[in-house]
Amino acid sequence: MFELLKEQPADKILMLMQAYREDPREQKVDLGVGVYKNADGKTPIMRAIKTAEKQLWEIEETKSYTGLAGDVGFADAMFGLLYGDTIKRETVAAAATPGGTGAVRQGFDMIRMANREARVFVSDPSWPNHITMLKHLGIEMVPYRYFDSETRSVDFEGMMADLGTAKPGDVVLLHGCCHNPTGANLTLDQWQAVIDLMTRNGLVPMVDIAYQGFGDGLEEDAAGLRMVVSQMPEALVAASCSKNFGVYRERTGLLMAVAQDPARLKVNQGMLNHLNRQNFSFPPDHGARLVTMVLNDAALRADWEEEVREIREGVLALRVQLADELRRLTNSDRFDFVKQHRGMFSRLGATPEQVEKMRVDNGIYMVGDSRINVAGLNARTVPVLAKALVDAGA
Ligand code: PMP
Repeated sequence: MFELLKEQPADKILMLMQAYREDPREQKVDLGVGVYKNADGKTPIMRAIKTAEKQLWEIEETKSYTGLAGDVGFADAMFGLLYGDTIKRETVAAAATPGGTGAVRQGFDMIRMANREARVFVSDPSWPNHITMLKHLGIEMVPYRYFDSETRSVDFEGMMADLGTAKPGDVVLLHGCCHNPTGANLTLDQWQAVIDLMTRNGLVPMVDIAYQGFGDGLEEDAAGLRMVVSQMPEALVAASCSKNFGVYRERTGLLMAVAQDPARLKVNQGMLNHLNRQNFSFPPDHGARLVTMVLNDAALRADWEEEVREIREGVLALRVQLADELRRLTNSDRFDFVKQHRGMFSRLGATPEQVEKMRVDNGIYMVGDSRINVAGLNARTVPVLAKALVDAGA
């Protein structure tokens, strides 16, 4: 049987991580993988998570199974974080999943179970896993224009024109905030225009939110999502806690089916439970429990919010430093988009050859499409990157 298998293409980002590890140069700079790093290049366990972990060790009495949808307390706590008081709890069916990836994957599964004809419109570019998972599931994917490589901001006209070709029942996949890989995001007016178009044409929104708090703030980053769920009859929402709680390897995420008609709740919840059952039965609990403890305890929550703020402001400061340094070196404002972008990533707009040149000449590792993880920089390496970019002719 195994001889029938074809080799799968290697994951480009994981290959890049490997090449970085094997590079003997001391001054090398890793801007590849999408993990937050502090100024020392470390991905620390967040303070509130560490405290919750100690508390949990004392109070946890069993490792027996949770419910199929995970602990309801986790869904309740995440409901508050994501939606505030914009919608009612009884409109949301929710199931914990292994990370945001698990949530996205099962959201796609649910689309396929509901409507085999539905196509999923995906931003061009998007998180590559969106595309490969849709392909894996045999769901038709339609790219929509999103990034203007001249201005390095959202090509909103192109986006609206492409979404205008969607048929009723098609799904529009949107990044909740901090678009990966570009860093370019919709304004609230643009969210509203997309919502109006989806409403007019009977489209179904699916929002993937993996970086809440890393852009403009915890509330601000959820604003587009809140507009979607409060205005549209239905939405799928996939949330990841990997980044904003720093619990990457604990695999902590949540898939939600939001329906304004509470009569849908029972079937939707049953479907989410069913999908968990078919894929892995019970979702991981440890990370979800830590997140729940942090969100429900006033002191832990305040400390977590403070640390998220430190992370966000640290990344923003690096953006400003990089844009200013490039202004100085190029005598132009053409890299100012770096300070407009939000979240950990920016697509710089360098060609694959320029990206390769920076790797060979300067030991700077970024994804081939010139996406950088801004958090991989520090005050010392910002000028190194700026000079390399200019030297490479970007
Ligand atoms: N969606 C997007 C847009 C992402 O960037 C990521 C992380 N790379 C995820 C979902 C899922 O992350 P995880 O499975 O690690 O929670």
